[in-house]
Amino acid sequence: MMKYRSTRGDRQELASADAIIRGLAPDRGLYVPEEIPALPFAVKDMVDEPYTAFAKNIIGAFFDDYTEEEISACVKNAYTGTFEAEEIVPVRKAGDAWFLELYHGRTAAFKDMALSILPYLLTTAVKKEQDSHEICILTATSGDTGKAAMAGFADVPGTQIIVFYPNNGVSQVQEQQMRTQEGRNVHVFSIEGNFDDAQTGVKTIFNDSDFAAKLDAQGIRLSSANSINIGRLVPQIAYYVYGYAQLVKQGAIRDGEPVNVTVPTGNFGNILAAYYAKQMGLPIQRLICASNQNQVLTDFLNTGIYDANRKFYQTNSPSMDILVSSNLERLLYHLSGNDSKEIASLMQALDTDRKYEIPDAMKEKLSLFYAGSADMKETDASIGEMYKDNHYLMDTHTAVAYHVYEQYRRETGDQTPALIASTASPYKFAASVAESIGLPKEKNSFRCIDAVAEETGVPIPSSFKDLESRPILHDHVIKVSEMKDAVAGALLK
Ligand SMILES: *Cc1c(COP(=O)(O)O)cnc(C)c1O
Repeated sequence: MMKYRSTRGDRQELASADAIIRGLAPDRGLYVPEEIPALPFAVKDMVDEPYTAFAKNIIGAFFDDYTEEEISACVKNAYTGTFEAEEIVPVRKAGDAWFLELYHGRTAAFKDMALSILPYLLTTAVKKEQDSHEICILTATSGDTGKAAMAGFADVPGTQIIVFYPNNGVSQVQEQQMRTQEGRNVHVFSIEGNFDDAQTGVKTIFNDSDFAAKLDAQGIRLSSANSINIGRLVPQIAYYVYGYAQLVKQGAIRDGEPVNVTVPTGNFGNILAAYYAKQMGLPIQRLICASNQNQVLTDFLNTGIYDANRKFYQTNSPSMDILVSSNLERLLYHLSGNDSKEIASLMQALDTDRKYEIPDAMKEKLSLFYAGSADMKETDASIGEMYKDNHYLMDTHTAVAYHVYEQYRRETGDQTPALIASTASPYKFAASVAESIGLPKEKNSFRCIDAVAEETGVPIPSSFKDLESRPILHDHVIKVSEMKDAVAGALLK
């Protein structure tokens, strides 16, 4: 059976169900599989299979303490009737790349791919482990995770969900989506700070053992829906394998030929899933990591020095406005040859100095990645050109990825076919998108949605249709220092 352990050396080995319930290890490390399983099928036998077949097989290979029936039920519940595209993940050619459209779920961002299934994996895990606690999901969000997690967990029996998002750090549509979320078990707080403040606040609450004991006395246990939870990460591997099979099916490559994968990156979860797909044996040649102006990862992948001591920019791709990328810890663990001592010391340095440098032997392994970034002007230009040349509409995050991909091709001459992870509906960032395709400037995003739809004919996600007029159910704004009290207030009697 697969075993999961902490990146920072805690010796306990857990089955996946237990790791999913816990979210974060007691030594603050992240749970990682001790070994990455090989692809459980030959791609050529799968090209005509639906997305759900890929999800079942890949998730089943990692979470092998679940029965086949349990995994099948989770996949069925997650992806039946919750996605607007029949294929779930359409793969479309536009310009010089193939776009893996991951945003056709309930909240119109790729977070739905994993957060549609996490509640089922978690509640199944609780049953399997005969855990009688109520599970409270604590979530920091840069805009998309929060809504997708709420949509997944709303009114799920035995769970509560609490979301913290940065005040003034999310798009108007994202904020409206969160403030109008229904569900008796849903709690939403806007914090006076940025995403990193929210993420640090949540991690601090997780690590507060006195608080955990208080919650435990009332039968409550905290867990996470952020990509620090392995249950969030593994379902994301499936779409890279599916995307590859689609390229074979569409005749872009023959089975076994290499592809490159480009991912607009913030917390490093999505691109880590692509790395896992490669480790499973999927022929991915180069992983192209695209950042916005908060280019801490670009600098890290190019130098081996991670330095979060820098100015934080609010950009038009807010879901990537992040300076401390949690999942990088998992990559470092694997690149170090599972050296948890090394990882613990690097993460200690990150805590105290907001900076670390990896050893030379690890630096060499970073060449698997290419890293680049796009500023706001380049992002807008990328959206505009793509629309003008190909009549294809990208959101701001996907546009960051496309810009970096073009830069990669110019710099390296590498013509290997590429998949681009397309992470959000253009309507989620309608104000930027409208301006980029030459529509008049307009502050209200809902007017921009209408204008973009009229200009392009691209269908508006149905969950957006009455969004503007829905009643506001959550309007709390709190300080970072009040986050723990907010959790206590929501949960403790
Ligand atoms: C979360 C998000 C990203 C970044 O993904 P990570 O897994 O955090 O790197 C990119 N684009 C969009 C639209 C997102 O919501």
